[in-house]
Amino acid sequence: MFIDSLEVPPIPGVAPAWGEDSLLHRRLREGEYWRHLPGFASITQHEFETHQFQQKATVTSVDQLRAVVGSLASAEFYEDLALGMRHAPMALRISPHLLSLIDWELPEDPIRSQFLPLRRQQHPDHPMLQLDSLGEQKDSPVFGLTHRYPDKALFLPVDSCPVYCRFCTRSYAVGVDTELVGEKLKLHASQQRWEEAFAFIEATPGLEDIVISGGDTYNVRPDHLEAIGMRLLSIPHIRRLRFATKGLCVMPQKILSDQRWVDALTRVVEQARRVHKSAVVHTHFNHPREVLDVTRRAMNLLVERGITVRCQTVLQNGVNADASTMQLLVKRLGFVNIQPYYVYFHDLVPGVEDLRTSLSVGLAVEKQVRGTTAGFHTPSFVVDTMGGGGKRDAHSFEHYDRVHGIAVFTSPSVKPGRHFFYFDPLESLSAEVQQRWRIAGERDSMIRAALEGAGRTA
Ligand SMILES: *Cc1c(COP(=O)(O)O)cnc(C)c1O
Ligand code: SF4
Repeated sequence: MFIDSLEVPPIPGVAPAWGEDSLLHRRLREGEYWRHLPGFASITQHEFETHQFQQKATVTSVDQLRAVVGSLASAEFYEDLALGMRHAPMALRISPHLLSLIDWELPEDPIRSQFLPLRRQQHPDHPMLQLDSLGEQKDSPVFGLTHRYPDKALFLPVDSCPVYCRFCTRSYAVGVDTELVGEKLKLHASQQRWEEAFAFIEATPGLEDIVISGGDTYNVRPDHLEAIGMRLLSIPHIRRLRFATKGLCVMPQKILSDQRWVDALTRVVEQARRVHKSAVVHTHFNHPREVLDVTRRAMNLLVERGITVRCQTVLQNGVNADASTMQLLVKRLGFVNIQPYYVYFHDLVPGVEDLRTSLSVGLAVEKQVRGTTAGFHTPSFVVDTMGGGGKRDAHSFEHYDRVHGIAVFTSPSVKPGRHFFYFDPLESLSAEVQQRWRIAGERDSMIRAALEGAGRTA
């Protein structure tokens, strides 16, 4: 039943054997992959492939999970999850589609570990961690609009998503409050707030490119989606729009069944084309098992409508931070017409240290991905630096101290004259170095040495 999971050997740094296996990416899972779950055993394909069912049956609590998964998971598992949730920055929310992809026989299933926090897996946070580690709030001239780069801005119309990912960078705002992150910024759909963002964009002629994110544009009503898209396209200096949604990964059924939403998106894309601008979709897949035949069918519909879709992936330990998994993901995305754009190093987010990797692991994976397919289907591996330096090519560090796990970047086009860090997870360092990180004075001297290595003079 779970042939797919066996086909993705998680052996770090091992390239796949070219030959028969090189066509693995074309074998997309079909059939009624949800029927093994007791709660979904009687759900027909017709019902499962509607967004109404996907929304109605979305699991948001341990009790609901138990009602669907039943004895496929152990009593200890549910206890561990309830404990884990108390220390997690994100609330629990997982769609029936994704839930059905979890292999409950695998102790570390890559789908499960992205959405269901287990206490036994949680590591202490890195000492340099801050909430909103990217400093987005500092670069927000208007509530819900981040303007960091000269010609592009990030607009957050809503703060909810069809699922909640454990590793979400915007855990300071996205999703409902949790015990760990108690008072999240609230970014509800509000036309008045949106108007303030549009007014700022209108008054900033250097802007050309707007990312409409969140939250997730799947959760924006069709009439709102269309109004936002058309309003932005009507601003003469705005040339490019991107609608960010994880929807294609978590609920491809919406594309197949929510005609109003897809039509609204299509009208914006067509209007963009009429006025010689571009409007595209950016989505988010992390594991090759997330690309199924139903994904291909949803993509076919978007392809027929001329809608470009690109993918941004988050590199995660135990999920995709090995060469063969990432190669398969990239090839499979390309096969269904999704263009791999970025692989992000995992940001420093509270409560999810277990998912981060060191810079060196990601660099090794990148080396093995480049060359496996078309260059324009080869993602850039980027670090979104802490403190607002923006995205940097992972290879472009000024200095990387692998022993202490400190990478130093500069960002001359975004924040000239400053240095930015990426810190490897403590788990990846020697016991002795881990001990040094726990002492404030030692931390300072390790960071000072790294800055000197990067050529900064005091
Ligand atoms: C990522 C991001 C963008 C878009 O950057 P690209 O590199 O063009 O994809 C824009 N604004 C902010 C604040 C971002 O974080
Ligand atoms: S879909 Fe994106 S914004 Fe929403 S929780 Fe996941 S990572 Fe965060």
